[in-house]
This record gives sequence, structure tokens and C-alpha cells, in this order.
Amino acid sequence: MAIWNLGSINIDHVYRMDKLPRPGETLAADSYSIGLGGKGANQSIAAAQAGAPTHHLGAMGQGDDWVIDRLQARGVDTTYILRLADQVTGHALILLDGSAENSIIIHPGANRALALSALENAMGAIRPGDILLLQNETSLQAEAARIARLAGARVIYSAAPFDLDALQAVMPEVSILAMNEGEAQQLFAAIREPLPVEGLLITRGAEGAEYRDLKTGQSWHQPAFPVTPVDTTGAGDTFAGYFAAALDRGDGIPEALRLASGAAALKVTRQGAGDAIPALSEVTDFLA
Ligand code: ATP
Repeated sequence: MAIWNLGSINIDHVYRMDKLPRPGETLAADSYSIGLGGKGANQSIAAAQAGAPTHHLGAMGQGDDWVIDRLQARGVDTTYILRLADQVTGHALILLDGSAENSIIIHPGANRALALSALENAMGAIRPGDILLLQNETSLQAEAARIARLAGARVIYSAAPFDLDALQAVMPEVSILAMNEGEAQQLFAAIREPLPVEGLLITRGAEGAEYRDLKTGQSWHQPAFPVTPVDTTGAGDTFAGYFAAALDRGDGIPEALRLASGAAALKVTRQGAGDAIPALSEVTDFLA
């Protein structure tokens, strides 16, 4: 089976400085680096690195070909990524101070400009048993979820960044809802009735992760693997991509949770987002 991921692609511009600038203040950065990010790109890389055939659905501006090269180098099929003439590639300006506090500006650009006709064309090849991944950094999430369900595919939705309206629009088509602890708190503060999804995946940082099967009431808890964290950016995306890929290859929930947890633990020991997501061989060595 295959994974399809309608997801954001962002270029992360990272500036390190002693302190963050206040309004009206101009400061020089100590260093600058550029990397690949966006929840969508991260999750595609994680799923592909975990061994699943992974098709990224989404849009970029023109130029920035290194992004496509890097996604391909990490095993992601980029055939369905549209290059829009009138949009810039999504990007993030990330300011980090000496204590790793940050200020971030995201410009979604092409990520929010994909046309429905283009999505429908691209998703013509989705098959029963495939998995569609979604996060909340693109447009057309509910439309993509409906196409996937009509085709007999499962839908895994990461409710991040959290937006109740976006979540409620897509939820009727969602098989598995994935959230971190803060997102889960926001959801359960707003919604009291039973959720219309099959399963709930909640990640809790260094406290691990849990999965609840809402049909049977069964739940599983996976403790986090103890590591010394260097950078937790993309931990949730690494978890989601590896978890989806494990389900795609037929793993049960406990095996999928363990694999995803190992991959996310390794990720937090490394600086960076998409570029720091580990390969399956590294994860299996880590778990051995
Ligand atoms: P991010 O937004 O930084 O990508 P998130 O908030 O979506 O992350 P978290 O719940 O923080 O997601 O982390 C996802 C998973 O990553 C956890 O369930 C755990 O398996 C792993 N993880 C995160 N932080 C740590 C840590 N300090 N040590 C070990 N594993 C961790």
C-alpha cells in the first residue's frame, strides 16, 4: 500500500542570536542556516524513511529546486508537487536566542494555494487500503479526506496547528486523529460528545504517547525512550510519519507506537527538522 500526504513544504531560515529583538530593535544574528521544514514535508520524509512508498501532495513556488532534490534524496515521490507561478514557496523565519527561546514567522505561500482540480487530478491514483496524511498547514484538507475515503483509503489527521473549525470540517472523514498534549487539551475543552473517529493518538513529549481505539475502548501507552534532547522540532512529525508507515506495512498498534517512539527519540537528539529525521536502519539499531 502507499501513503499520500497533503502537506506543507516550508523553507526554514534559522537565525541564532543572544537575545530576540524587541519591536523597533535591529540586531545582528550570530549565525544563519537554511533547512527543510513544514509539517507536511517532515511527515513525508518520516514515512518514506520508515519504508513506505510516499507521495507528497502539495504546492511550492518556482525555483527552490534543492527542496525537491532533498525530498527525493530522502525517498519521497515528488511527482504530484505543483510549482505555482504566482506564489512563493512557504517559508518560516525562526529566531532562536541563547536559551533556545524562539520567535517564528510563517508565510504559507503556495501551501495554501493548491487548486481543487489539481488535488483531484493528483489523487486519482489513490487506492483502497492506502493512507492519506493531513496536517493543518494547507488548504483543501476536508476535500482531500473525502476523496480518500471515497477511494477506500484511511485518513490520519494531525490537528496541528490547532484550529477547531478546520478540525471539525475534516473530522467526519478521519480514521485516526493525532494530537500533542496541548492540542488534545484544546479539543477536549471545546468538544464534549464522542469523537467520530476510530482512533486517537496523543503524544506527550518526554512522557511518551498513547493510542485509544474508540471502537473497542482498548488503549496502549508507549513510554518515551530516554535521550538527551538537543532539538525537539519535528518530533511530532517524525512520530506521525513513522506511525503511519508502520500501519501501512501491517504492524499492530503496539509495534507502530514503539517504532514511532524510537524514531522520534532519535530525532530529538539531532538539530533540525526534516533533515534530522532518522532512517529506518538507525531506528532499528536504536531499538535493538
Ligand atoms: P513538535 O511540535 O516539536 O514536532 P509535538 O509537540 O507535536 O512535537 P511531542 O508530543 O512533543 O510532539 O513529541 C512527539 C513524540 O516525540 C513523543 O511522543 C515522544 O515519543 C518523542 N519525544 C518528544 N520529546 C522527547 C524527549 N525529550 N525524549 C524522548 N522522546 C521524546
